[in-house]
Amino acid sequence: MTPALPLGGHCLCGDVRFEIRGAPGPAGACHCESCRRWSGTYWSSVNIAQSDLVLTSGEASLAWYPSSEHAERGFCLLCGSSLFWRLSAADSERVAVAIGALDLPTGLDLSAHIFTGEAGDTYEVPQGAPHHEGFPQ
Ligand SMILES: [Zn+2]
Ligand SMILES: [Zn+2]
Repeated sequence: MTPALPLGGHCLCGDVRFEIRGAPGPAGACHCESCRRWSGTYWSSVNIAQSDLVLTSGEASLAWYPSSEHAERGFCLLCGSSLFWRLSAADSERVAVAIGALDLPTGLDLSAHIFTGEAGDTYEVPQGAPHHEGFPQ
């Protein structure tokens, strides 16, 4: 499938709203411990250029949490929705956007399940896309 642009999305309370205005890169599901704890199970996202992500409302409600030495996670201060992940380097040009926050239909297909070696023990990693124990090389 091919997403129709712009692809809109918002947090649970609707204060943080955004649009993806350029062709998205790969979509994937991450089963790492950080994503597991942050999302509740595993976190599915689509990788896009930061310049293609346009906030249309709620800029004051969007906070970034430094979840590791190299990455940070964007969430809504009002409702807690897990929205974005990006490398914290100032020159980082990509951002991962939560697929669950997107309006339907997304037109996206998952291309990979990553860090399946850290997956939770209450679900099976879905079939239909390749599994990678860690980050694909
Ligand atoms: Zn919210
Ligand atoms: Zn992860």
